[in-house]
Amino acid sequence: MSDFRQLARDWIAANLPASIRIAMPEEEIPWGGRKPTYPNPDTKAWLDAMIAQGWTAPTWPSAYGGAGLDAAQAMILQEELQRAGARPALFSFGLWMLGPVLLEYGTDEQKARFLPSIVRAETRWCQGYSEPGAGSDLASLRTRAEDKGDHWLVNGQKIWTSYADKADWIFALVRTDMDAPKHLGISFLLIDLQTPGVSVRPIELISGSSPFCETFFDDVKVPKENMVGPLNGGWTIAKKLLQYERQNVSAVGFGGDRSVRIEDLAKRAVGEVDGRIADGALRARIARHNLYERAVDVTTRRTQIAADSGDVGVLTSVVKYASAKAHQARGELAVELLGLDGLGWSGDNFDAGDLNETRKWLRSKGNSIEGGTSEINLNVISKRVLGLPD
Ligand SMILES: Cc1cc2nc3c(=O)[nH]c(=O)nc-3n(C[C@H](O)[C@H](O)[C@H](O)COP(=O)(O)OP(=O)(O)OC[C@H]3O[C@@H](n4cnc5c(N)ncnc54)[C@H](O)[C@@H]3O)c2cc1C
Repeated sequence: MSDFRQLARDWIAANLPASIRIAMPEEEIPWGGRKPTYPNPDTKAWLDAMIAQGWTAPTWPSAYGGAGLDAAQAMILQEELQRAGARPALFSFGLWMLGPVLLEYGTDEQKARFLPSIVRAETRWCQGYSEPGAGSDLASLRTRAEDKGDHWLVNGQKIWTSYADKADWIFALVRTDMDAPKHLGISFLLIDLQTPGVSVRPIELISGSSPFCETFFDDVKVPKENMVGPLNGGWTIAKKLLQYERQNVSAVGFGGDRSVRIEDLAKRAVGEVDGRIADGALRARIARHNLYERAVDVTTRRTQIAADSGDVGVLTSVVKYASAKAHQARGELAVELLGLDGLGWSGDNFDAGDLNETRKWLRSKGNSIEGGTSEINLNVISKRVLGLPD
């Protein structure tokens, strides 16, 4: 065994609290930020231990709080964390999306200012891309930032801003040239959500709760130094960030948590014979599903290794598309196997584990929309991977 694997394995064994080795209920997801909530103290202990190692951002340079691991070591670490059944120490749009593009496009000042607080879970970021008239056609966005000499003046509206009501900062695409062709007049801006003129309104969903918000900018003054990359050069950064987002929807798998084995749900539903699922047709169906999941996992790993080496690319559209299908298919299977037990949303009449499966199934529906819909990703694959004409 490599020295690093042994080191990682020993460290995890010594530091991973037992209560962090099981499936993560939604309310215990560690998002960090200025107003963090850690209902389970072990979640915070695990996060602090990982931060101290630089392992919340293993491949980022140690100067910014990462561990400076190479792609192979990062993969070994991930394997060992998985082997131990460890929950992710930190969920963070900063880690998954903003950080990697800041490392590539940010100034030294921007990196020093923003990256360490992401690694240490002190700042929670949200994503200001979508607008009421700009979803799949993102470059049609209208939120504008005017140059006022010593600051930008931002006016406009974003929508579907996940967790904006709980976030501290937003990374936003803004129009800085109203006359240029749409892709050429966009810039990438970092905005403190506490700035006067920013207001956030949660969007209530049919379930009664909502992770989504509308975010309004009304004469918001943003310091000049908060622009990342060149003026009107934001589209390149926007696309790169989307590639990281797509890769992470696959890797982190919102709705795709597999801590409960589908085989166990099947055995519960139809019984078992000689340790196998009693129904042969169901067994074959689950085997086919597992093979598909495995193929998606291996391809996601490939994109992860490429991303850790700074080479995130259009393959992310392939894994995003395929993993959305896998998560949704898994959810369908799980809820089907749960039968009536899978029809609950809340309440004491339902087992907490069953409710969790139902919620994962519902959450997975968004996978084929967020970060670029399946149709849009198929377009990307047809043009940029397969080289087909428009
Ligand atoms: C769970 C979740 C979280 C999200 N979080 C965020 C967030 O934090 N920040 C943020 O900015 N946004 C967020 N979004 C918004 C998301 O990025 C948009 O919903 C998405 O980009 C689609 O845009 P739209 O909803 O305007 O749909 P539209 O663009 O109106 O698309 C409607 C339908 O038409 C299809 N379509 C559109 N154009 C084409 C085309 N050229 N070819 C083929 N089919 C096409 C689409 O695939 C889709 O099926 C989130 C969405 C979800 C579901």
